Amino acid sequence: MMNVAKDSLRIDQTRLRADFEALAQIGATRDGGVHRPALGEAHLAARAWFRERAEADGLGFRTDGAGNHSACLACGPPGAPILLLGSHLDSVPRGGRYDGALGVLAALEVLRVVQETGLALPVHLEAIDFTDEEGTLVGLLGSAALAGTLDPDELRQPRGGREVLAAGFARAGLTDESVLGVRRDPATLAGYLELHVEQGARLVDAGVDVGVVTGIVGYCSYRLTFTGQANHAGTTSMAERADAAQGACAFTLRARELVMADYAGGVVNVGDMHFSPGAYNIIPGAVALALEFRSPEAETLDRLEADLLALAREQAATFGLGLEVAWQGRCEPALLDARVQSLIAQAADGLGLSHVSLPSGAGHDAQSLARVCPAGMLFVPSVGGVSHSPDEFTRWADCVNGANVLLQTVLRWARLDSNANLTDEY
Ligand SMILES: [Zn+2]
Repeated sequence: MMNVAKDSLRIDQTRLRADFEALAQIGATRDGGVHRPALGEAHLAARAWFRERAEADGLGFRTDGAGNHSACLACGPPGAPILLLGSHLDSVPRGGRYDGALGVLAALEVLRVVQETGLALPVHLEAIDFTDEEGTLVGLLGSAALAGTLDPDELRQPRGGREVLAAGFARAGLTDESVLGVRRDPATLAGYLELHVEQGARLVDAGVDVGVVTGIVGYCSYRLTFTGQANHAGTTSMAERADAAQGACAFTLRARELVMADYAGGVVNVGDMHFSPGAYNIIPGAVALALEFRSPEAETLDRLEADLLALAREQAATFGLGLEVAWQGRCEPALLDARVQSLIAQAADGLGLSHVSLPSGAGHDAQSLARVCPAGMLFVPSVGGVSHSPDEFTRWADCVNGANVLLQTVLRWARLDSNANLTDEY
């Protein structure tokens, strides 16, 4: 087929819409969102639906020991590498319909269009739904397992708790061993592409159609416990108190100032604070807080980590408190492949869509894949920048635009050279 004809190929937006609406019914909440935590009943039902759709369309299907579900199209020569297209069908608790779902359905649609057109590409295509992107259990579980970067410690002490993980694994027929055994040889992967809603307001505010993602922030989390002396709140003078709340709160306020002054592009969040014993008339003897911070660069993340821990120690000393520091996990920042970024931008240009380059402040499966193969990601606008909420919304025209950019990026990737080879550096 001539390139001219390939340039005019588009996804079937009626079929994509029907899929989108059908999927949004699975785990639907009354307020228009979805509740599909990883490996829960609704998530497994969504996966069964995805498998049925793929098989009904005559696509291949595969699943692996981490539960990742894939529709497959053998459109390349025997032994050709696979170009993965994907996202996730799980959601945060009471989340939105677009996060993850749009990327998986657009990937499925790309496979169908290539199949119907009978195109022979230099790569095979696989539309993959990664397990537990959202972190109900571990976060980026399926993609990290596939990339071979999953730390066994994360399964032993998952952030969602071991019981939740064990129950999910039992429902899905997975084990720690099966999950840790799914690494794919990078030589079999041509690369990875993901379409996702932005989950921020930069595209909407700028009136731009498509975001070409340059990199994905890394993040690090700690549980910090400021320890003082629980005592009578009425009879202990202000000067004599070892009040753990003072250290925890001063740290929280100072952390914000530190990041705003010295870390452009970085963010810090204290998302939870637990007071012990926790009563009106007792000076807090201990306050444990959940600290998370993010940066697009590994060196900056390292510096931010050192500065925040130093600040915590300083504030503990200021208020005469002890400090316990418990590391909870780290996800490395990822730079996305410059050549893939350029292909996405060309695809958007070819469709007459405006685009801008931007980093992602949210974590995505693409950061797992970026460690083993050329990976790229594109965003479409989120109205109001709202996400992880039933109010999450992306205009349908933007969803269609994103799916067409995904399709056209695949076709451009495929004609780069006869081997579609971007992989020399991995
Ligand atoms: Zn997502």
